[in-house]
Amino acid sequence: MIRDAAGLVAAGLAEPGDLAALDRVGARYAVAIPDGMRALIEHPDDPIGRQFIPHPAELDLAPDERADPIGDDALSPLPGVVHRYPDRALLKPLLICPVYCRFCFRREHVGPGGGLLSDAELDAAYAWFRAHPAVREVILTGGDPLMLSPRRLRAILRTLAAIPHIELLRIHTRVPVAEPARITEALATTLDVATPVWLVVHANHAREFTPDAVAALRRIQTAGVPLLGQSVLLRGVNDSPETLENLFRAMLRARIKPYYLHQLDPAPGTARFAVPIEEGQRILRALRGRVTGLAWPTYVLDIPGGHGKVPIGPDYLDDGMVLDPAGIRHNLAGVSGTG
Ligand SMILES: *Cc1c(COP(=O)(O)O)cnc(C)c1O
Ligand code: SF4
Repeated sequence: MIRDAAGLVAAGLAEPGDLAALDRVGARYAVAIPDGMRALIEHPDDPIGRQFIPHPAELDLAPDERADPIGDDALSPLPGVVHRYPDRALLKPLLICPVYCRFCFRREHVGPGGGLLSDAELDAAYAWFRAHPAVREVILTGGDPLMLSPRRLRAILRTLAAIPHIELLRIHTRVPVAEPARITEALATTLDVATPVWLVVHANHAREFTPDAVAALRRIQTAGVPLLGQSVLLRGVNDSPETLENLFRAMLRARIKPYYLHQLDPAPGTARFAVPIEEGQRILRALRGRVTGLAWPTYVLDIPGGHGKVPIGPDYLDDGMVLDPAGIRHNLAGVSGTG
């Protein structure tokens, strides 16, 4: 496990001359690269290296970048809970991750220091969920909930599953790809509670689906947990139709349904990953019709300032005409509901 600039230099992933600059980045934003991920990096600037190796540009702030790009902080009624939509809310039991992604929208908060909710804070969160019957879904995120011990995770899932109006539990995680050895049988069976648990796996490149990762995902799925995928559109990582196609196909082979492709949130020091929305739409358009519909995620933007996620995928309707996957326009006249 690489945890700092000295570790990067020792692993041959950074030049000794960059040590001081990378130490400054590391003092600001957490660094962790587990051995399995390290093994996938062929070059510091390849699609895996770019995601996890700190870069001096992280300390440069672009004008539109915000510490809390999607406005979560203002929507937190109590520690660990974020409530933006009527039927669902986030619960962040800890802020530790298996890897620290250089483009993370929560980079100002996550780190090995913890953010672990105390028992009293967890109890307060449970009380909040009990008192909000309109909330039917708890989304465990963080940090990464699968960094909890199976014992602690089991306690959280069982307590939430016992709340009658909670119909759905969801876990957002990177552990199955970043540190698959953590997905033991004990952890996988922990997910098998009375209330359905859906798991959303964050992965951005096909190479993340190593045989170990696929086996870990299989253990989770065998516990009765449906798998969804979420990815971030990232410059130099997955910003071409071929790379995205390979990523989504790798997900489907691992029994994961691609759910969201996120537009990058403007977190501090992440400008080198930015891909304009128009380019994202062009890339997705190139997949439509050529690649199985199962591979098609919803391309979404989290509107800065806490206004929520909206689909921003390519538009196929245009002034009474519809574009087919080949880009040819067809008249809509005669189609029900159109003029
Ligand atoms: C992203 C997010 C959710 C989940 O949204 P879905 O569209 O259901 O995946 C819920 N709450 C908050 C605050 C979020 O940012
Ligand atoms: S795993 Fe998720 S929360 Fe953790 S650093 Fe990566 S993007 Fe951020």
